[in-house]
Amino acid sequence: MNKKVLIFSGPTREAIDPVRYLSNASSGKMGKALAEKADTLGHEVTFISGPVEEANLPKGKRIHLVRVLSAQNMLEEGLKYFSETDVAIFAAAVADYAPKNFNPVKTVSGINDLSLPLKPNPDIAATLGTFKKPHQKTLGFALETEFLPNKIQKKMKNKNLDAILYNTPESLGSDTGEYTLWTSDHLSPEPWGLLNKKFVAEKIFEFLAL
Ligand code: C5P
Repeated sequence: MNKKVLIFSGPTREAIDPVRYLSNASSGKMGKALAEKADTLGHEVTFISGPVEEANLPKGKRIHLVRVLSAQNMLEEGLKYFSETDVAIFAAAVADYAPKNFNPVKTVSGINDLSLPLKPNPDIAATLGTFKKPHQKTLGFALETEFLPNKIQKKMKNKNLDAILYNTPESLGSDTGEYTLWTSDHLSPEPWGLLNKKFVAEKIFEFLAL
């Protein structure tokens, strides 16, 4: 049966002033692969994407694209769609911090020891996780420089996720990545190895039984 799938993808962009921002190297390729797979399977997709190259935006009849910039924008859009969603996949690389203040004029150059106060961004998966109903399934990603099982399990719990795909920074911007699946009902992780993101998307939908 066709389901409603909500996918978060790409980086977020946190403005410092009208021309500068904080962001990261997320390409949106994983999100694109997930959206196109879901479309092929006949599901209805809402795709909330941070700024990525046009080529990394998914194409498909059943894909509704919502473009955002900041983590705050992404959360606001997510809140509009989550309650109607059967499955939410958090593949976005949300910036953990945003500048505390937006400077409406371009920051002057030539200052030594310029510091930029930051504030934590909202955790989108954790916020939506508080509204999660028993029929809804959620899956997140965890990109870590070290393999820390306790940290991954804590994240899964804090964000109320059914599963987390652990991956390493090499997957950023690449067509492939090394993945390990952790699920909330199994203690031992399932290593998937080095895979193309399109194949990872297939395996995710198999896991979600969609
Ligand atoms: O805590 P960490 O950033 O490692 O968590 C990764 C997972 O949480 C990813 O699925 C990511 O999309 C999601 N996330 C989020 N909002 C944040 C930070 C991460 O939804 N502010």
